Amino acid sequence: KTPLTAIQGFAETLLGGALDDATNRRRFVEIIRDHSARLDRLTDDLLKLSLIEAGKLELEFHPVNVAALVESCVDTARFRSAQKQLRLTVECPDNLPPVRGDVRRLAEVLQNILDNAVQYTPAGGKIAIYAGVENNQVKIGVVDTGIGIPRDDLERIFERFYRVDAARSREAGGTGLGLSIAKHLVEAHGGRIEVESEVGQGSTFSIFLPAI
Ligand code: ADP
Repeated sequence: KTPLTAIQGFAETLLGGALDDATNRRRFVEIIRDHSARLDRLTDDLLKLSLIEAGKLELEFHPVNVAALVESCVDTARFRSAQKQLRLTVECPDNLPPVRGDVRRLAEVLQNILDNAVQYTPAGGKIAIYAGVENNQVKIGVVDTGIGIPRDDLERIFERFYRVDAARSREAGGTGLGLSIAKHLVEAHGGRIEVESEVGQGSTFSIFLPAI
């Protein structure tokens, strides 16, 4: 079922009588809201991906302060990780060199990776974000103690629409496009993105960006 089919279906159900069903009507409206939110993300992501692939997504390069970038993304993830009782730690030295980047796009990349870490880590787990310099590149790592990714799926998760567990991703409002967009964006910065993972142990995503 696509989000649109669900939206149509539940709207019809409401109009067909469920509006008077005091027990269920609120839940039906919530389902419609959730599916529209997912549809909104999906169209956004698809548009972005097609712009990137057509070479039409323009990046505005400026020096980017990595500590501030990390802090702003962590701020956004804090609420959701607190709800899941996840411990979130940040280790970011003050003397990091800036990177040359489009701060909005880099924030999208990091946010996506952080949101995934929160999403795919069961309650009580840990997420650690750290930054450092390696071979003239700034490395930003996001380590989680989540469900992990099977070896055979590891190289495919950066493909568009690829999801290890489609039902789980869909339920969480995922589109399967986040990591393919992230990879495109990081490469457009002259950087790269890597993943290591062990099923049941957790995953580490690392972004490398050229330091200025
Ligand atoms: P989605 O919207 O499904 O999260 P992404 O492109 O962001 O799409 O991720 C693709 C798939 O990679 C996810 O569906 C999930 O199976 C897997 N994945 C991404 N991040 C993690 C993580 N931190 N832990 C476990 N699996 C992950």
